[in-house]
Amino acid sequence: MATAIANSDVESILAGYRLPEKIPFGVELAPVMYRAEFHAGEWQAGSLVPFADVPVNPASTALQFGQQAFEGMKAYRSAGSNPFLFRPNMNWRRFARSAQRLRMPVVPPELFAEALSTVAVSLSEFIPGGRGQSLYLRPTLFGLDPHFAVKGSDHFLFLVIASPSDAYYADPIRIMIERDSCRAAKGGTGAEKVGGNYAASLLANENCNARGFDQSLWLDPTGRKNIEELSAMNFMAVIDGALHTPALSGSLLEGVTRDSLLALAGHLGIEAESRTMPVDDLLSDIDAGRCSEMFACGTGAIVAPIATIGEPDGREWSVPDVGLVSARLRDALLDIQEGKTDDSFGWVISASDQQALAAFINS
Ligand SMILES: *Cc1c(COP(=O)(O)O)cnc(C)c1O
Repeated sequence: MATAIANSDVESILAGYRLPEKIPFGVELAPVMYRAEFHAGEWQAGSLVPFADVPVNPASTALQFGQQAFEGMKAYRSAGSNPFLFRPNMNWRRFARSAQRLRMPVVPPELFAEALSTVAVSLSEFIPGGRGQSLYLRPTLFGLDPHFAVKGSDHFLFLVIASPSDAYYADPIRIMIERDSCRAAKGGTGAEKVGGNYAASLLANENCNARGFDQSLWLDPTGRKNIEELSAMNFMAVIDGALHTPALSGSLLEGVTRDSLLALAGHLGIEAESRTMPVDDLLSDIDAGRCSEMFACGTGAIVAPIATIGEPDGREWSVPDVGLVSARLRDALLDIQEGKTDDSFGWVISASDQQALAAFINS
């Protein structure tokens, strides 16, 4: 596979780029991106190119049938031009599953590594270095063939775009139990990271925003009883001092952050359990004073305390501790991601050595 060499266009664009003073989550788009195409049955050599619109046929399967998947991950600043990535093997595996679910070709580990490395290293001096800040990376894959035959594409585009970012939320959030609609079905695509899941959540989120909440809390699509997750984040609660999170159900997304916090909790001596969590039990646990904390977790949000959970009928429950356990977990996670402590789990890998990164991704 040809190595991407920054051409002079890219070099002059990077030389003229300045980070804005304010960097909210996912608003500032980096001036370069990685791009590779799949056609004639194979991946073609990719390269770093200026960030720009890409030509998409109006009849493409991406636009007409939602044949699209993505990942969300971060590169962290380190001394020098050697950014670090956090568990990119987990993101690659999930990206491969999402691609297969939507009948798209898997991006090979070597190509995924080359793309991440090229983008992160070229932007290394623009990775903000404050606590919780990073370069958010968005690998994206979609179908290009223009036709209305429902059979998918043979021609695909793979991009890695980037956004210098802060954490998603600055303050404790308010969530509303979604009692009407579902974001994913059993046997559907809820366990994959695909755009359609988000499209299915937007209206409910707008409704909950209009009632003064930040996010919808989704319940299981069959019984509408058990907590699944938030629209782009997994859900956790502290009950009787232990960490609880909904077990993987096939219709909720297996977050890298979720998995990492479960492991970190064990490491910190906090009991952790992944189980079926009926929402009504959670509300009783809050009433009884047993549930002391709730929080959302994800690559974008990191760990975001939840202050209040509400019903569409106006009832609300608040928890006493906004962030005792969650602050410990957030610090422990960020310390590893930002290279401030020993990485005893082996989760962090340099972005600059493409071969080592490809081997890590493949592991
Ligand atoms: C991405 C995402 C998450 C969080 O996953 P991480 O790997 O921790 O970033 C949770 N739920 C949904 C629906 C998501 O798309």
